[in-house]
Amino acid sequence: MARDESCVFCKITSGQLPCTRVAESLHAFCFMDINPIAVGHALVVPRQHYETVMEMPLEEAADMFRLAVRVGPALREVVAAEGLNILQNNGRCAGQVVGHVHVHLIPRRTGDGLRWPWPATKADPKELARLAEKVISQLEGL
Ligand code: 5GP
Ligand code: ZN
Repeated sequence: MARDESCVFCKITSGQLPCTRVAESLHAFCFMDINPIAVGHALVVPRQHYETVMEMPLEEAADMFRLAVRVGPALREVVAAEGLNILQNNGRCAGQVVGHVHVHLIPRRTGDGLRWPWPATKADPKELARLAEKVISQLEGL
C-alpha cells in the first residue's frame, strides 16, 4: 500500500489518526470532514496515497467515485438537504489544501450562504471548436 508518512489522510485510512468513519470499499474510504462547511460534509479518499486524481489508476478512481455516488444521496437524505455538491479539487490553485486525493460530499440547501456560481464568460464558438479539436488530438495520442 503506497502511503505518505506525513499525510493526514494516509494516517486516517491506516488508523493512525481517528476519524468518524462512514463507509468503505476496496480502494476507498469515506469519513466526516472535521471542519464541515455544511452539516453532513464528508470526504471520500483513496486508500493509497495519490496527490491528484490524474495519477490514480482508473479502477481505483472509479471505485472512489462509486463510493461517493453511493454515500452522497444517503448523506443528503439524513440531513434532509435539497442538493449535493460532489467536488474534487486538484492542485493548490484549484482549492486543494490536503495533498491526498479527496472527493467532497457537501449537502446543500437553498440560501445556505455557500457561494456559487463562479463568474461565467461568453465563449467564442470558433475558439471552443479549436480547443475541442486539440483535446481530441491529445486523447488520440494517449
Ligand atoms: P481541500 O481544501 O484540500 O479540498 O479539503 C481538505 C478537507 O479536509 C477540508 O475540508 C478539511 O476540513 C478536511 N480535513 C483536514 N484535516 C482533516 C482531518 O484531520 N480529519 C478530517 N476528518 N478532515 C480533515
Ligand atoms: Zn496520503
